[in-house]
Amino acid sequence: MRAAQISRPGGPFELVERDIPQPAAGQVRIKVQACGICHSDLLVKEGHWPGLQYPRVPGHEIVGVVDAVGAGVTQWTPGQRVGVGWHGGHCGYCDACRSGDFFGCTVALQITGISFDGGYADYMVAPAIAVALVPEDLSAVEAAPLMCAGITTYNALRNSAARPGDLVAVLGLGGLGHLGVQYAMKMGFKTVAVARGTDKEPLAKQLGAWRYIDSQKQDPAAELQKLGGAKVILATVTAGDAMSAVQGGLGLNGTLVVIGAAQSMQISPLVLITGRRSVKGWYSGTAIDSQDTLAFSALSGVRSMNEVFPLEKVAEAYERMESGKARFRVVLTTGQ
Ligand SMILES: [Zn+2]
Ligand SMILES: [Zn+2]
Repeated sequence: MRAAQISRPGGPFELVERDIPQPAAGQVRIKVQACGICHSDLLVKEGHWPGLQYPRVPGHEIVGVVDAVGAGVTQWTPGQRVGVGWHGGHCGYCDACRSGDFFGCTVALQITGISFDGGYADYMVAPAIAVALVPEDLSAVEAAPLMCAGITTYNALRNSAARPGDLVAVLGLGGLGHLGVQYAMKMGFKTVAVARGTDKEPLAKQLGAWRYIDSQKQDPAAELQKLGGAKVILATVTAGDAMSAVQGGLGLNGTLVVIGAAQSMQISPLVLITGRRSVKGWYSGTAIDSQDTLAFSALSGVRSMNEVFPLEKVAEAYERMESGKARFRVVLTTGQ
């Protein structure tokens, strides 16, 4: 089989031939059909993850078909279409796991494409616990970006305090934001898209946004206050100054939910105190959250806009993602 590996921090993608891996006990082998390229894959490419073992095959937006299962796997059978996302497994018995906070596992937290080889390959092996079912009416290319960009925005919104009819702003209209706007609308929120430039307005409307705020021309905080103040602002950008500029648009008890990994941001204690407002982060979710994301997307028509490249063009595809010019997610396909 082919695999696109990185063999040292900062090294290039190497397309190599490897033996098809065998699933051990508790594992599932997946014949990969599509794998999204996420910005976080640079953790592998550039060596920003402490203790990462090389060579490593990146990729945590995987969709394919179960091809073989290891001993003891009862919930998956060959032929099922499945996906694997960022959360690659947990112990199930540490205090965090016993509290249901599997992402905080302190014993055996596994991250796909970091702790074990990911989806930039014809086949991959994953713990059965990390696998999500893919609905029939989503193609592999449609489903792949939902395994990270999709689940992150969907899960952050559904776990927020916003309820149908509430004002929800989505800051940024990129890979995460273009999904966030769609999910927010389909969840029944009065959805405001906030981005830079008038040229993004038609896109915001196409995605279903109720209003668009051009943060270059208007003060996004003041505009959100005119609309009553946001219950939730989902910050998908990686620019801390853009997050700082929008916090004043929160209504009473509003929350700024941060999912974009900005270096730093400024928060005004006065804004927090006077409106009992808060700032919180959100991480993607586990396999069942992925499965819920896929099912909701199939039901509601939420789709990622993708640029598709064959696996052998992995270097070009990665560069496209890194350029920030992709509209909006980049997906690799194996042809299987
Ligand atoms: Zn990701
Ligand atoms: Zn644990």
